[in-house]
Amino acid sequence: AEPVLTISGLNVDYGTDAGAVHALRDIDLTLNRGEVLGLAGESGSGKSTLAYAVTRLLSPPGVITGGEVHYHRPGGDRVDILSLAPRRLRAFRWQELSIVFQGAMNSLNPVHTVHSQLTDVLAAHRPELRKRQRTERAVELLGLVGISADRLAAYPHQLSGGMRQRVMIAMALALEPEIVIMDEPTTALDVVMQRQILRRLVQLRRQLDFSVVFITHDISLLIEFSDRIAIMYGGRIVEQAGAAEIYRDPRHPYSDGLLHSFPALHGPRRELTGIPGSPPHLSAMPTGCAFHPRCGKAFDPCAGRVPLLAPPADGPGRAVACHLHS
Ligand code: SF4
Ligand code: MG
Repeated sequence: AEPVLTISGLNVDYGTDAGAVHALRDIDLTLNRGEVLGLAGESGSGKSTLAYAVTRLLSPPGVITGGEVHYHRPGGDRVDILSLAPRRLRAFRWQELSIVFQGAMNSLNPVHTVHSQLTDVLAAHRPELRKRQRTERAVELLGLVGISADRLAAYPHQLSGGMRQRVMIAMALALEPEIVIMDEPTTALDVVMQRQILRRLVQLRRQLDFSVVFITHDISLLIEFSDRIAIMYGGRIVEQAGAAEIYRDPRHPYSDGLLHSFPALHGPRRELTGIPGSPPHLSAMPTGCAFHPRCGKAFDPCAGRVPLLAPPADGPGRAVACHLHS
């Protein structure tokens, strides 16, 4: 597999009155070309912070305190995202990497039509296109997400939530980025609509050849639509493996708990045991393995030492951060 985005040793702190708290610790993660990489974890685990940090949209009190993020161009060139100058960064964000945030559908401008919002993006970044070409491209983009051209003249309030969300996805694809990051892109929609949009997106990724980082707390959606999954807890990645592998054979007790928090997609029913307790606050992160207060398998070293993310003895191609496997 060829990497398109590599994150290494990434650390993010949030400044608070009581001092800095760690929001992301030692994140190592690779997105391969053409794949859908799912990021899972309860709220507060650092998923969104990771998306903001990687795209340089993190704002104070969040600060990147260490690590590197590289984008790999199709030819092999490496772009150091964390040191891009602001002007390059703006172009980079639409043309090479784009983002659809949680509730993005509410960020459409209410006083502008779909047509003008789509063509504005094109006008800003593709000045060589003439007006008519921009309109043609807008129609094409809407078509990609299954919206007919007669909706071009609509204002956002005239569209359903699902349609507005699809318009946002069309905008994210407008300049043919190599990477699309989706942070809870469909959370506000009903389940049927969520699946429809995600299915379309996964098809488009093959057709248009981009890679996706897909973030959601809904692990059943991740298993269905991702190729690989990274599971986060307390600002760290605690397990990373192929989606099917994680589903069949989760190694980290937290992954196992997450998988038991939803009904089986197929096959025998799973017991819905969930995970006792609630995720930790950044300002009160447990020592050692941050999961230890909730872990039914905690033993001697767990409260004292942080387990490092490493391949288990029998499983190259996956990694787990748990003393049971080290
Ligand atoms: Fe549980 Fe210990 Fe593994 Fe953490 S390191 S998940 S506490 S067994
Ligand atoms: Mg979030």
